[in-house]
Amino acid sequence: MKRIGVLTSGGDSPGMNAAIRAVVRKSMFHELEVFGIYHGYQGLMNNNIKELDLGSVGDIIHRGGTILGTARSEEFKTDEGQLKAVENLKQHGIDGLVVIGGDGSFRGAEKLSQKGIAAIGVPGTIDNDIPCTDYTIGFDTALNTVIEAIDKIRDTATSHERTFVIEVMGRDAGDLALYSGLADGAETILIPEVEYSIDDVVNRLQRGFERGKKHSIIVVAEGSSGGLKIGEEITEKTGLECRVTVLGHIQRGGSPTAADRVLASRLGSFAVELLLQGEKGKMVGIQNNSLVATPISEALAQKHFVDLSIYKLAKELSI
Ligand code: ADP
Repeated sequence: MKRIGVLTSGGDSPGMNAAIRAVVRKSMFHELEVFGIYHGYQGLMNNNIKELDLGSVGDIIHRGGTILGTARSEEFKTDEGQLKAVENLKQHGIDGLVVIGGDGSFRGAEKLSQKGIAAIGVPGTIDNDIPCTDYTIGFDTALNTVIEAIDKIRDTATSHERTFVIEVMGRDAGDLALYSGLADGAETILIPEVEYSIDDVVNRLQRGFERGKKHSIIVVAEGSSGGLKIGEEITEKTGLECRVTVLGHIQRGGSPTAADRVLASRLGSFAVELLLQGEKGKMVGIQNNSLVATPISEALAQKHFVDLSIYKLAKELSI
């Protein structure tokens, strides 16, 4: 292997730049040539490919977003789209590819591997919803963004003695809601993996008020039922006025935390090592603080499971 490419695809996450930097620098350390592919698979089909050097990834380790840009592409899901992508890579003499993204992007990487391009997936998403890795790049930063926001909301909630419902991202995975709810001492956490009962939510609220609590924080994952609906249901049942905050895309941005920069550096470098060992169609991950590689097909046949012991703990501590 002499030349490799790197792209970011799907939803962006803080730390993707640190991962790009690791891929580029590790490749250069091993005297490989590296090409940046701009705007994900769409850019790959459009031949938007440029050689990178050591300097092109300077001063980005601390920046959110992705210098390569990202995109979603329906065309790439077709055989013709994938063949176009393979042809462009071959034209540049690129036979290895690092794909930084989520599970959709990994499916694309697997297809490319089947068509003769060795591709390795690096998990980058704030949702932490990828199997075979304890953490994904961007999750820790998003978590800290959520916590900072909830801390601020808590100040005003205490002053006004109000009930706040905060909706955080996570369509299928409740990790962000769960960990932020635990870290912020939320009274109630609603995640897509656990069915909720509005009566239970209301009982917990009322128990809190009876023992003199001045405010309440309820964290809801967008995939659970959404913050607005929960706010309405609480008002209907109790007559309490609820303030609903949807945190939205603020959770995707910002300078990556130290944990995300370290994770991105380790995973990006490991992806290059795997390419050098002749591996393809695998995703890299971290399990018990060790780097692991899993075939993408095997990983995506599994489901990501939220840690229900954390859910139980959060419930016990917010009794
Ligand atoms: P994420 O990678 O964050 O999960 P998406 O699910 O939108 O984001 O996937 C990103 C891109 O990966 C898609 O726009 C598409 O180009 C490509 N992709 C997704 N699923 C497949 C698939 N089954 N086959 C080939 N490419 C795919």
